[in-house]
Parts: sequence; structure tokens; C-alpha cells
Amino acid sequence: MTGTLSRRASITTVVGGVKVGGGAPIVVQSMTNTDTADAIATADQVVALNEAGSELVRVTVNNEGAAAAVPEIVDRLRQRGFSVPVVGDFHYNGHLLLAKYPACADALAKYRINPGNVGGKRRDENFRTIVRIALDHDKPVRIGVNWGSLDQDLLTEMMDINARSTAPVEAREVYLEAMSASALRSAELAEEVGLSHDRIIISAKVSGVQDLVDVYRRIAARCDYPLHLGLTEAGMGMKGIVASTAGLSILLAEGIGDTIRVSLTPRPNGDRTEEVRVAQQVLQSLGLRSFAPQVTACPGCGRTTSTFFQHMAEDIQSYIREQMPVWRDSFPGVEEMKVAVMGCVVNGPGESKHANIGISLPGTFEEPKAPVYVDGALLTTLRGETIVADFLRILEDYVASHYDVGARASRAAGVAYESVR
Ligand code: SF4
Repeated sequence: MTGTLSRRASITTVVGGVKVGGGAPIVVQSMTNTDTADAIATADQVVALNEAGSELVRVTVNNEGAAAAVPEIVDRLRQRGFSVPVVGDFHYNGHLLLAKYPACADALAKYRINPGNVGGKRRDENFRTIVRIALDHDKPVRIGVNWGSLDQDLLTEMMDINARSTAPVEAREVYLEAMSASALRSAELAEEVGLSHDRIIISAKVSGVQDLVDVYRRIAARCDYPLHLGLTEAGMGMKGIVASTAGLSILLAEGIGDTIRVSLTPRPNGDRTEEVRVAQQVLQSLGLRSFAPQVTACPGCGRTTSTFFQHMAEDIQSYIREQMPVWRDSFPGVEEMKVAVMGCVVNGPGESKHANIGISLPGTFEEPKAPVYVDGALLTTLRGETIVADFLRILEDYVASHYDVGARASRAAGVAYESVR
């Protein structure tokens, strides 16, 4: 599904076969946190991220061991049947590593360059070296400016100009302007070296939501390069999820952004794929893409005094998540299905009727029965101890009868859906 929000016009940059920008579906990406030099562990994590839905995966290439391991990582992925493009993240020594390890330069689908730390006084020359290598290997680059490593020479120059101005602006304003200028000047330099206009993606990451919105609005208005959005150092748990969602949603709702990453700090040994699921949920909540059936569940209240309702909502959500790898291949379109799990008669039947399939549980003091609605009509009423299992059976049957290609053709020909019960 492509969303109805109008998107900023951008050109298309192809990254290892994945289109970014130009109206293509907004790409979900992620980054590994393994030691890249450990090819086995890194390939395993790339697989996990890709299976979770990451369409591009970035690895840090921070030293010779990492650069030497990149071809093996990509080989391992291809041998296991994963075609996900692997992107290299370079800081300080990218020009040296890419020159010394041509197999790494070749295996990567894109190079991320940080203009703020591409190398001391020879910054421009080192930047040009990376761009020339990108040209030689026919790769796109991401010019990734970061608040924490902004080009200090450029910032100082702009701060000085501002200080001498008759109407100086706030330091924050200069900072954001310097980020935008750094990204766009670097893109211009890359094109002067010979990289074509459609081989450049831009990002300008900051850690504050309002700063993120401001800096991307500026850049979006000044160029047509595809934009990679992300709140950097978003943080852990709920804070990271909410802050990322707040920043990304404002920009995406304005049509800004062609690929996103949610930079969450996982708990020690935590699940790295959480950032992928959050990114997908942001896009799906905005109606920009569909990845998995959405469960509408009421929050519960004093009318649902037992935990049965919460358990049921969780069981259904988990069941759908577990089934999706199979459903995705067998039942195209199932990701757009809407399921309602409601706690009582107040909003239950109404919300259930708006979903493809919905169940309304009995609230406290209500008659112990759970009406199930399919495509807006009452299908059956469940009772007893097996309500959850019975509902999951009806759900499975609905998926098979509505999203199987053959079943869809039958329905189009007028064969009615029949209850399995
Ligand atoms: S649907 Fe019923 S149980 Fe759920 S929040 Fe509304 S009143 Fe409470």
C-alpha cells in the first residue's frame, strides 16, 4: 500500500536494487551492533534484521578487520539466500579502508560518509577519495551529517559571520544552518568529483525532536536528493520509541523522508530487531505502508475487571506476529487486514464492525458471550472456555479464504464466504 499523504518530490537513488526516493515506498533500514570483524555474528544479525523487515542493513566499517570481513559477510548472506543490501558506515578512515580493501568497496551497496569527520585538514581531499571509489565501484553514497560530529571549521566560520552580523541569530539557528550547509556543500562537492545527482542520499541527524524537524525542513526545501530520516541517539525503551516516533511522524506527515531508521539503544543482549518493528509501525500508523495486520484493542477500563481481556488481546497480537512470515508469502494483502479486540459492549460491536474481523468480549456483569463480526456482519457468538482458540480458528479461516489468491478469485466470482463453524 502506498499512503495518501503527498510526498516531497525527490529523485530515485537505487541502493543494491532497493529504490529510495522518487515516490518509492519509504524504505525501512537498520544497523547492526555486532563487531563487524566477526563475520558470522554480523551476518546472523543482518539476517535477523532483514527477516524482521529491514530492507537495508548498515554495518560499521571502522577498522581493517571490519573492512576485511565485509566480503565474507555478504557472501554468507547470499549463500543463505538473503539479498538484502549491506551499507558501510565510515568515519575518519573511510578513504583509507575503501582504498586498501577493494573487495569491501565492491561488496557494499552504499557508503555512508560523515563530512564532519572524514579527516582533518585534508577533509575535502579524503572526501573526494571516497567519492572516486564510489564512482569506480558504481555505488551511491549517503552524506550523513551528524549533530555530534559537525564540520567544526564550517560551524566556526558560520558562527563568526553571525557574530559580525548586524542582526545576529541564535546559536541554535546557526547550528542547524551549518548542518544543512554541510550536507548540501558535500553533495555539491561529490557531484563536482563526478558522482551523478541520483547517487546521493542525505541525512542530518540530531537528538532533539524539534531540531530534527527544523533541519530536515530546511534541507527538504533546498534539494531533491532522497532523505534518510532518523533521530540520532534516540535512547532506550519508551523514551527512544516516543521521541523517534514524534520526530519522524511530523516530517513524514509533511511528505519529507524516503528512508527511515529508528536508532534505539537496546538493553544489554536485547533484541536489535525492535528498531525495525518500531520503524514499520510508524509507517503503518501513518498509513504510508502496510507490514502486518493491525489489531485495534480498546484500553480496557472498569468494565473489564479481569485480565482475561488483556491476555486475549496479547494472544491475538502474538499469534498474528508469529503467523506473518508464513502469511506474507501465502496470503498477499493480509498485511492490510484489520482486527478488533474489544473489552465490552460499549464500543465493542461498533469497532468490530469497522474491522475486517472483530470480537467483543463480555465486560463485567455482561452476559458471558463474545460476538464475532466478519466484514461488518455478525458471524457467530462464542461462549465458554475456548473463546480465544475459537476466535483464532475463525481468524485463520478468514485469512485463508480472503487472501489466498485462488480464494480471492472465487469470491470475485461470487462464491460466498462460509463460516468454518
Ligand atoms: S470498549 Fe468497553 S471495556 Fe473497552 S474501554 Fe470502552 S467501555 Fe471500557
